[in-house]
Amino acid sequence: MIELRNVWFSYDGEFVLKDINLKVEKGERIVVLGINGSGKSTLLKLLNALLFPTKGTYLYKGKNIEKNAFKDKNFIKAFRKEVVLLFQNPDAMIFNPTVYDEIAFGLRQLGFEEKVVKERVLYWAEVFGLTQYLNKPPFILSGGQKQKLCLACLLVLEPEVLLLDEPTANLDPKSTGWLIDFLNELKGVTTITSTHNLSLAPELGNRLIVLREGGSIIYDGEAEAFLKDQEKLINAGLVHKHKDKPYYHLH
Ligand code: ADP
Repeated sequence: MIELRNVWFSYDGEFVLKDINLKVEKGERIVVLGINGSGKSTLLKLLNALLFPTKGTYLYKGKNIEKNAFKDKNFIKAFRKEVVLLFQNPDAMIFNPTVYDEIAFGLRQLGFEEKVVKERVLYWAEVFGLTQYLNKPPFILSGGQKQKLCLACLLVLEPEVLLLDEPTANLDPKSTGWLIDFLNELKGVTTITSTHNLSLAPELGNRLIVLREGGSIIYDGEAEAFLKDQEKLINAGLVHKHKDKPYYHLH
């Protein structure tokens, strides 16, 4: 479904992603683990076609994702509905006057009939416990509720690929638990979730991809094997040697 072939990316000369090779099949639950600055957000933005590879190829369902592909209006429409990204900061995604309009926004942009818009908005508002806020302005919501609102805005589009950039970074333990359960129960959607949190990583997916500082993949496989390997953990900057006792660096 998704394939990156020898992808390199630089914002301004220096490569922040280096020789990334990645194949993702439909329905996989992937977690991208790495310290701050290792390139997780950049990788998710590439997958969402907000950025394009400086070198190398991104194939989505066999189609080359490059700037030129986005001149085709029908293609943009299909891609933006199928592959969606939850930004790290929910406030960056919220701008409508009411919670209802916020959830409806994407569907309206895509030209759905108001009847369908209403059905889907009411359904997802219920799933995320937002029904009582539908006529209220989004800014009154708590941080955890804003995160749920943003998820509702994406899931209402019935996407095939859900990219989540550090979704637990601003959540308290209760909301973090809720999000983990939600992702575990979400069927039929491919999820790629980033985190810098070593202990949460195995909860957020069953295939672990580890980025090290400088933006290269140093591990791709089962979480358990990686988490038991002290040398790999140190190499990824996720564990620091403290005298003779290593300790977890959890931020
Ligand atoms: P992470 O999500 O793992 O914290 P990022 O993808 O945000 O990592 O950043 C990877 C590298 O790219 C960092 O060195 C960061 O400073 C740099 N970077 C991120 N965004 C930009 C930008 N818009 N312009 C220039 N450099 C950037």
